[in-house]
Amino acid sequence: MKQLRSKHNINASGTDMPDPITDFSQLVTEYKVHERLVSKLLQQGYTEPTPIQMQIWPLMLRGREILASAPTGSGKTAAFLLPMIHQLKSPRALGFRALVVSPTRELAEQTYRECSVLCEDTGLKVHLIDKVDKVISKFGPGSSQKFDILITTPNRLVFILMAEETMINLSNIEWLIVDECDRLFEGGKRGFKGQLSTIYMACSGLKVKRALFSATQSQNLHNWCRDNLSDLAHVNVGPRNT
Ligand code: ADP
Ligand code: ADP
Ligand code: MG
Repeated sequence: MKQLRSKHNINASGTDMPDPITDFSQLVTEYKVHERLVSKLLQQGYTEPTPIQMQIWPLMLRGREILASAPTGSGKTAAFLLPMIHQLKSPRALGFRALVVSPTRELAEQTYRECSVLCEDTGLKVHLIDKVDKVISKFGPGSSQKFDILITTPNRLVFILMAEETMINLSNIEWLIVDECDRLFEGGKRGFKGQLSTIYMACSGLKVKRALFSATQSQNLHNWCRDNLSDLAHVNVGPRNT
């Protein structure tokens, strides 16, 4: 398996590192992912997992906490969306069970679109926070609680959590995903760390797992993950031809 990793420029460290998967069919045979979810990847013309997907899928499907970096364009979005959607399976009236934090509105919207496509046959409800003042009526205690996945920028979410904690219940979150986490770190010394701890603390359930993704590696980020995540799996995919 070392060979398989080095062939695809995958560096992985952590305990009990599962073997990378190289074929979509292994998602179904080895990890019991529903064929209909896997078929959404095929429908988009994908023929094989990208290197980051090869290693992240088996890790997240085993519920491991993750810090991962891979170059821009290497398929990180599907790397976290597929196992996240697999775990949620079907709608439950528990409020949000997965949260994806993206640094910009554009990215959040892009992730929302990709997530909506993958969720098409699951009945799972995906939401994007747009207008802060609509949040209470949409997601608050009086609403129908029919939503499973929340995609948002950190500013908006933290603003809402600070304004009134009960507006959005994050206590049933099972996956907290932070995308482009290196860019969030850039936003100033106080910025990201403070925002992330507010979000992290609001995701207060016992089942919560966290996974952070970025294009570049950073020591700051690694330190934060080492201190705050349990049994961290650290995965890095190098650029091709190096
Ligand atoms: P990143 O977040 O790493 O920058 P994206 O998740 O935005 O990359 O994916 C980049 C492009 O690759 C997207 O157009 C996406 O649809 C496509 N893609 C993702 N996974 C695969 C795959 N397994 N095979 C082919 N294309 C893929
Ligand atoms: P982002 O795109 O990261 O959500 P924006 O520049 O769109 O950031 O601004 C969102 C921020 O503006 C919120 O985090 C909050 O601090 C502030 N904000 C947004 N809506 C309101 C509002 N209705 N009342 C007060 N502050 C608001
Ligand atoms: Mg991305």
